[in-house]
Amino acid sequence: MADVLQHLEAIEAEVTCSLCANIYSDPVNFAGCSHIFCRDCVINTIEGPGITKSECPTCHQPGWKKDLQTNHKFKSIASAVQKLKQELGTADIASCNPSTGRS
Ligand SMILES: [Zn+2]
Ligand SMILES: [Zn+2]
Repeated sequence: MADVLQHLEAIEAEVTCSLCANIYSDPVNFAGCSHIFCRDCVINTIEGPGITKSECPTCHQPGWKKDLQTNHKFKSIASAVQKLKQELGTADIASCNPSTGRS
């Protein structure tokens, strides 16, 4: 089981957003570069009060909201990792719950 978790963590690192440090939700990338972020995260960096530049937060290449494209490959990997985590998490809780069995 430890091995499985290690592999899962390695994959999880690949699908983790550098802006919010969570697994991508709706991963997108700018047409001009390959950096991937959650749609909401990257929109927060290119739109809003005080923001004058519209660029990729990682490589600072100019990029606009209209250039954002959903990265379907990462979207399916991210959701698979999330499901795996949920399943493994549920299994952990079920096998180790000190509060059950008392009345
Ligand atoms: Zn994010
Ligand atoms: Zn970039």
